[in-house]
This record gives sequence, structure tokens and C-alpha cells, in this order.
Amino acid sequence: MRICVSACLLGERCKYNGGDNGIVGLAHLLLGHEVVTVCPEVLGGLPTPRSPAELRAGRVLNTAGEDVTAPFDLGVRRALERARTCDLALLQPRSPSCGVNRIYDGTFSGTLILGSGLFARALAREGIPAFDCDALTDAEWALACVLSSRTTGVEGDE
Ligand code: SF4
Repeated sequence: MRICVSACLLGERCKYNGGDNGIVGLAHLLLGHEVVTVCPEVLGGLPTPRSPAELRAGRVLNTAGEDVTAPFDLGVRRALERARTCDLALLQPRSPSCGVNRIYDGTFSGTLILGSGLFARALAREGIPAFDCDALTDAEWALACVLSSRTTGVEGDE
């Protein structure tokens, strides 16, 4: 199985503040699969660290008052080029790029609303299922692990 993963979830220090969102055990869970890591914001040419950004009224604005819609859009296009042949995606929650189910409301007040980030929307348009890693329960993680191992085994036998 080919799985697109937000790079910060696998420990890449590409988060806006220079940190990462690494999940212990995630790399192990993905063993046997082809992993495609992407950070749409870095791919769009934005530096790390960078000012936090949120979506508002169809634009991407950061806390420095800049409109960074163009680099975000570029990053989505570049990330999608890599992810287009993936079977599914596992993404970092709440991000204006990677968030799947909920994102911040654009007021930089920590308020979450229903919605998805620009990369998650692009994946949806391509028909690639995207999952918010926070939404997966331990049981789902375990089931995903078993099912994906079987799938990998079948593919390996062909
Ligand atoms: S754009 Fe996605 S991969 Fe990059 S730091 Fe933000 S959440 Fe992580």
C-alpha cells in the first residue's frame, strides 16, 4: 500500500515553529508500505520556522498580516504530484494544509471549526481517502495494521 503521510508526523521538523508532531510507533506501523512524506507548506517554499497561518474567507493569512495563499497553493500542487498515486493519506490534525476534519477558524484564537486544510481538500478531489491521525482509536490503529499487512502480503505474492 502506498501511504501519504504528513512529514511532521514522522518527526520531520517542518512545523511552523521549527518543531515536529512525531508519533511514537508510527514508523513501525507503516513498515512494509511505501510511505510518501510531504509537507505542503515547505514544498510551497515557505521557511521553517514561519509565522502560523490560518484559513479565512478563502485566503491563507498569517500572524504577521501577510497573505500567504500563493505559496500554500503552490505547496498543495507539489504535494499532490507526489501523493496522486497513494491509496490513502494520514495527516496532521488542525493544520491549514493538512487538517482533515477540523481547522482553526482564522481568528488565531484557538477556535476550531469543521473543515479541512487545502491539501486535504485536494486529496478529496482526487478521491484519495485522508485520515486525521487524532481520529484513529487504538483499535483502528491495530485493525489498520493487520489489514494493511495482509494487503502487502497479497501484493508481494503477485
Ligand atoms: S504543512 Fe502538514 S506536514 Fe507540514 S508541518 Fe504543517 S501539518 Fe505538518
